[in-house]
Amino acid sequence: MPWRRVAEDVRILARTHLHLYGDHTQITDVYRIVEGLGVRLILKPFWHDRGFTGIAAIDETTGYQAILVNSLLSIPRRNFTISHELGHIVMRHRAYGHYALERLANIYAAELLMPMDRIIAQVRLYGPNVCYLAGINRVSVSAMSLRLQELAAILAG
Ligand SMILES: [Zn+2]
Repeated sequence: MPWRRVAEDVRILARTHLHLYGDHTQITDVYRIVEGLGVRLILKPFWHDRGFTGIAAIDETTGYQAILVNSLLSIPRRNFTISHELGHIVMRHRAYGHYALERLANIYAAELLMPMDRIIAQVRLYGPNVCYLAGINRVSVSAMSLRLQELAAILAG
């Protein structure tokens, strides 16, 4: 399957989860989506490994699914990490660190936190103000900056 098709399927998956357990016009409540999908979320402070973001695990025999996230991360980074790890779980990734799998988890997270239809509506209302849009969507400025670049690429055809 070509990469574009795979990436689009991942976006559709994220939008489906957003519509099932959230409201795509409002700030994404990742906690509600995680709960809705039956995934256990464990937030724990990693004082001795501040660079640690998160990890996902699935127990194939029991079906138990869990995400462990560093609670010391800022709210925007925490939201992105939870969404990224959730992406690994819903796509049933069994290995981590592969470039393509990490990219797919990032695509899932970006669509979950910044669904394109919401961002387009917000850009129309407030203009392409990266900091403001990052703030109202509870994402980092760098994540929103990438999203706006994607939007510009879509609009450019
Ligand atoms: Zn990952």
